Amino acid sequence: MPQPHLRTRNLKKVKVKVPGGSTKTHYKKGRVSVAICAVCKKPLAGVPFKDPSEVRKLSYSTRRVWRPYGGHVCPSCLKIGIKKAARAIAS
Ligand SMILES: [Zn+2]
Repeated sequence: MPQPHLRTRNLKKVKVKVPGGSTKTHYKKGRVSVAICAVCKKPLAGVPFKDPSEVRKLSYSTRRVWRPYGGHVCPSCLKIGIKKAARAIAS
């Protein structure tokens, strides 16, 4: 039975053959991926690329970009989207 802190599905289980010849399960922490734009899939600037526990220590305003759709869509894609929406309303 794994230790209580290892009883989670958040950790990746890796079977490792140890020098004694037996196979043991090692628990690996998942890696954090860069935040990408939802439209063009380019990496976003201004979004911290850290472990969630490290991000929680940051101030609330430094965790995301303070603009509509900040942290989800890059500024150039947002500009295009706003123009499209405005033109759809006007016509
Ligand atoms: Zn984009």
